[in-house]
Amino acid sequence: MLIKTGLIISTLLLSNNAFSLSGQVAPQKCQSQRVKLQMLGTRGPELLDGQASTGYLIWLDDRARVIVDAGPGSLQRFKQSKANFEDVDMMLFTHFHADHSADFPSYIKGAFFTDRKKDLAIFGPTGTKFATSASEFAERAIGSEKGLYPYLGAFLDPKQHSAYKIKVKDIPWSFSDLTVKQVSNKDGIRVTTVSTHHGPFPSQGYRVELAGCAISFTGDMSGRLGEMPTLAKNSDILVAHNAVPEDATGVAANLHMKPTYIGKMAKQANVKKLLLTHLMGRSLSEKRKQESLNLIRKNFKGNVSFPNDLDVIRP
Ligand SMILES: [Zn+2]
Repeated sequence: MLIKTGLIISTLLLSNNAFSLSGQVAPQKCQSQRVKLQMLGTRGPELLDGQASTGYLIWLDDRARVIVDAGPGSLQRFKQSKANFEDVDMMLFTHFHADHSADFPSYIKGAFFTDRKKDLAIFGPTGTKFATSASEFAERAIGSEKGLYPYLGAFLDPKQHSAYKIKVKDIPWSFSDLTVKQVSNKDGIRVTTVSTHHGPFPSQGYRVELAGCAISFTGDMSGRLGEMPTLAKNSDILVAHNAVPEDATGVAANLHMKPTYIGKMAKQANVKKLLLTHLMGRSLSEKRKQESLNLIRKNFKGNVSFPNDLDVIRP
């Protein structure tokens, strides 16, 4: 008898003890020569911005280990990066808007032609009526029963044969619990997360620690809950989404943080490098970038840059 893979996935929800409160990490010098952050997509969802939608790749010792978001076009950048998908341990999804996740099925299809044997961990927030959970997203994308591409369902279904399995874990998302939680700690890579405010859409910020370095990602967020500085504290790199200018109002301001807030957040978190990505038409002209920089530098005195696709940044 067929068992619904959705039920199987739901049993993979992380137990409470897997989400132990993160303690302070013992200070360790960042071995920056071992770590690289590569941009797979530095823009938002627009069609005329010339770069891919959101995606990031973290390398350790010249192996690609963590993918953050899989927006449209970011898979093409992954191919150009010459990374091997067999090396990737996990994909962290900040949220399930199309410009952060639509390339996921294509990664899985492409991986069919690799020698991948180890399981692939997928992390993302739980859902609401506005967005799927990580497990629903995977099921609706490639599940053998209700997937858009059911022919890829064996990678999710433990009953079917496949070279490796995709293990999806939903991170409990909530406005009322903004504590930093650990979602993974194995093979030299530790990941912690916090729920963020991105309008009504469940979204997570992430911090990835490896070789003594810390790289944090805001994802899309408004910042109104002040949730990010604790997660990003003392990060070597903070990737912040600069999707709106200071004069944004209404829906845009409810979804995204303004430059002044980005500067305050980076200062409060005491990060070393601040990368501004997810630029959109309203924030990516040279004039707008200069405005954003001026506002950010009123509070944050560290290194600030606007990377482009495929750029590599060392912590
Ligand atoms: Zn979004």
